[in-house]
Amino acid sequence: TDLSKIRNFSIIAHIDHGKSTLADRLIQHCGGLTLREMSEQVLDNMDIERERGITIKAQTVNLRYTAEDGETYHLNLMDTPGHVDFAYEVSRSLAACEGALLVVDAAQGVEAQTLANVYQSIEHDHEIVPVINKIDLPAADPDKVKAEIEDIIGLPADDAVLTSAKSGIGIAEVLEAVVKRIPPPVGDREAPLKAMLVDSWYDPYLGVVILVRVIDGVLKKGQGVRFMQGGTQHLIDRVGAFTPKRVELPELGPGEIGFITAQIKEVEQARVGDTITTVKGGATKALAGYKEVQPVVFCGLFPVDAAEFEKLRESIGKLRLNDASFSYEMESSAALGFGFRCGFLGLLHLEIIQERLTREYDLDLITTAPSVVYRIALGHTKNEDAKVIELHNPADYPDPSRIEMIEEPWIKAVIYTPDDYLGSILKLCQDRRGIQTDLTYVAGRAQVTYELPLNEVVFDFYDRLKSISRGYASFDYEQIGLREGDLVKMSILVNNEPVDALSLIVHRAVAEERGRGMCERLKDLIPRHLFKIPIQAAIGGKVIARETIAALRKDVTAKCYGGDISRKKKLLDKQKKGKARMREYGNVSIPQEAFIAALRMG
Ligand code: GDP
Ligand code: MG
Repeated sequence: TDLSKIRNFSIIAHIDHGKSTLADRLIQHCGGLTLREMSEQVLDNMDIERERGITIKAQTVNLRYTAEDGETYHLNLMDTPGHVDFAYEVSRSLAACEGALLVVDAAQGVEAQTLANVYQSIEHDHEIVPVINKIDLPAADPDKVKAEIEDIIGLPADDAVLTSAKSGIGIAEVLEAVVKRIPPPVGDREAPLKAMLVDSWYDPYLGVVILVRVIDGVLKKGQGVRFMQGGTQHLIDRVGAFTPKRVELPELGPGEIGFITAQIKEVEQARVGDTITTVKGGATKALAGYKEVQPVVFCGLFPVDAAEFEKLRESIGKLRLNDASFSYEMESSAALGFGFRCGFLGLLHLEIIQERLTREYDLDLITTAPSVVYRIALGHTKNEDAKVIELHNPADYPDPSRIEMIEEPWIKAVIYTPDDYLGSILKLCQDRRGIQTDLTYVAGRAQVTYELPLNEVVFDFYDRLKSISRGYASFDYEQIGLREGDLVKMSILVNNEPVDALSLIVHRAVAEERGRGMCERLKDLIPRHLFKIPIQAAIGGKVIARETIAALRKDVTAKCYGGDISRKKKLLDKQKKGKARMREYGNVSIPQEAFIAALRMG
């Protein structure tokens, strides 16, 4: 294809501002799918994504658009994942484009993820076309939003396109803006092949499918290619594009975006960001920006029913086929039996995997406290040299007397909020050991920047932020490296037995308060037994908080007066059902929900 007729662009937006709806409209307008073929939001192809309205895996569609100038253009629309947990994938998708549509909700205005995404887009030298969406809403105020785009982001917004993706207003104008304002790609057909691996996923029929952006040279069926970072070689057996239906093409030339398959069995062999070149006469220098993604949040996943361990193993293995960024290894716990220690890119990633296991594979799971990765310097002993270890699991916490230093990961968080909620948000950040580094006001809104330990954010920071701001505050973060901290392991003892699944690493300064909170919540979460149950939080051998669950005196059926047998039976049944979802610790039954609920900070 003639390079001047290609436009590669992505859509960036804060969640819920209408990115997927707009993408659907653009596809529909270009005739990519008939109305009947078009299920709602074709780009979000996983159930969970659809339900939560988030895009996890990037998808790209190739559209043909005949513009007002009479020429037919090839548009490649990339849908980028919108969440910070997938920041690296977002960055790779953006690197494959020359421009972006910046979608802003006409009633909500600019939000934290609008900013985070737009800065990334600017970093990739994109031409940015502002699109003000949802102008059909009664609360829409496009002029105010234009002013925000200019004042807060610093982009001219005079010629922003006004749309209602829902009612189909302004769609042709968006396509004209893409053609007129976003520059075509540049590339050299005669140069050695250089293609960027933008995304990969597992397809049960095709094996691993790889989304590529060709920079220079040509990709063809039958070509022998080499992955420059991964070091592997493969034979291309299919080349094509999504329109959004999958179609095969003879080749992909410079500036084009499409897919290849090469009989690859695992996504791990096709890592996002790698450079693909030919085996013979290939490029010598890989494209910049490749990065191995490392899991940052770990937790244990155990089957509620120990008999389901094999099923869990199989299901996790299948999920992993499609997601090389999540890791797992077997773990055994005294109380929970056999399970897996899993690593994730962030909390949302954790939730998605957990939910898919529960829903798609019909597993009942216990999730242990999420933990970040700590780096610990250990002094030498008589038998061992000094060394540095990485700690993923509080259960592996080393002998404290050997610890010389612990470091924990920190993040830089940007919170964007109407200023009414600022006071409570500052307090939340302060309580989580945050260090404020910046605070600015624009148009009745505050933008505050904090450095925070990731450990303080993994539990329920986001939920708390949403609840204290009634959903108005938005949040975005990036990792900024490790810092030393006075961190200790806190154990929880139920009836004098440590419950490993509840132990966690905390900062010494907040340990007592956290311990007290956990004990209080567990007191409510664990049902009474026939005996008294002490609940304690301890650091080393020292108890720092304590609660007691009083013994159950009466038989539970005594509550039913008279001889209403059916009612009694119902109550007993209910009790039995409740039991099935409990784990036994010593002789105490702890309900499954208690494990996560206990960690929520009040
Ligand atoms: P995304 O998270 O940015 O992909 O947003 P979605 O496309 O999933 O849209 C979020 C919600 O906003 C959905 O309920 C859409 O139906 C709705 N929506 C999208 N565009 C418009 C619009 O132009 N007007 C109105 N009123 N609602 C819209
Ligand atoms: Mg979406």
